[in-house]
Amino acid sequence: MRIADVRVILADIPVKRPHKMSFTTLERVNFAFVRMETSDGLVGWGEAACLGGPTWSEESAESVGVTIERYIAPWLVGRDAAGIEPLRQEMARRVQGNPFARAAVEMALWDLNGKALGVPVHRLLGGRVRENVELSWSLAVESSEAEVAEARAKVALGHRIFKIKTAAHPVAHDVERVRRLREAVGPDVSLRVDANQGWDRATALQAIRALEPYRLDFVEQPVARWDREGMAEIARAVTVPIMADESCCSLHDALAIARLGGVSILALKLTKSAGILGTMAIARIAESAGMSCYVGCMIETSLGTAAYLQMALAATPVTWGCELFGPLLLEGDVTRTPVQYRDGAILALDGPGLGVEVDEARLKEWAR
Ligand code: MG
Repeated sequence: MRIADVRVILADIPVKRPHKMSFTTLERVNFAFVRMETSDGLVGWGEAACLGGPTWSEESAESVGVTIERYIAPWLVGRDAAGIEPLRQEMARRVQGNPFARAAVEMALWDLNGKALGVPVHRLLGGRVRENVELSWSLAVESSEAEVAEARAKVALGHRIFKIKTAAHPVAHDVERVRRLREAVGPDVSLRVDANQGWDRATALQAIRALEPYRLDFVEQPVARWDREGMAEIARAVTVPIMADESCCSLHDALAIARLGGVSILALKLTKSAGILGTMAIARIAESAGMSCYVGCMIETSLGTAAYLQMALAATPVTWGCELFGPLLLEGDVTRTPVQYRDGAILALDGPGLGVEVDEARLKEWAR
């Protein structure tokens, strides 16, 4: 399976409504798609979705494109795509950091291998442990009225889990949002909060204590990514479970968080962890430390969503569901058939490779 060609396509797809988070209000997602072709004409795809520039982390679609084109593609051509682990190791040696770029390339390698063997990627990861993955919808709307209306409409469609993006507003406003949402959706729907690093230690404690009456499943990344001690301290001081997202990118991060204790859930994302192998390693650390996992997203198309889903189907500690809702929030998609949702869950994909087929004509509509 000799790699003959590696190409990057940059694209932008608007979201159906502005997505307001602590660090940015998202109007469109920027993508770097990777198209990898073997000498016998097999094509594999990868995707890195970036939230409107280097806002969530240091990487942007542009930096992903340059990193792959200049520092990965030239040596990858001519190599055997079957060696995902050795290629991953070499990529990590040649490119420091830049996990989104490395993840997009690794995704294409998995897609090629699955297609060559005629099996879904989850089979190569040990097989799927679940039929589908429960889906969380993120509420990040400017007006509180619109947010309640959106939650009600989603409940009517079968959604049972919501994540409320906080810390773009003062604490009192966020607490009032959660109160209104709890009142609107009733006691049986799951509510979670993601502060996206937006609070300092004292504000986080104040906010989480004020939110305790509304029975949240967990609070995600209350403080800055670098403040792991603060997050552990907060987790010990409150009754709501705390989840690490931006603080937990590499397996070294996961190990450090496990050693500090307190935090009980890790958010998994293929791109922040440089691919499927890095993410599965984090899931194993969670498992060995008695923690559980959730699958986050960067608002991927059906292609990137399929890759995240393959991992979510095979990673045993994923007991909190996922937020693989990208295709539902984006104005457009790039695959022939989109990923499928039913009864508040995303359904397993059992086709070869990542389980979706990229439609190059559709991709062209969004390409720069
Ligand atoms: Mg998050």
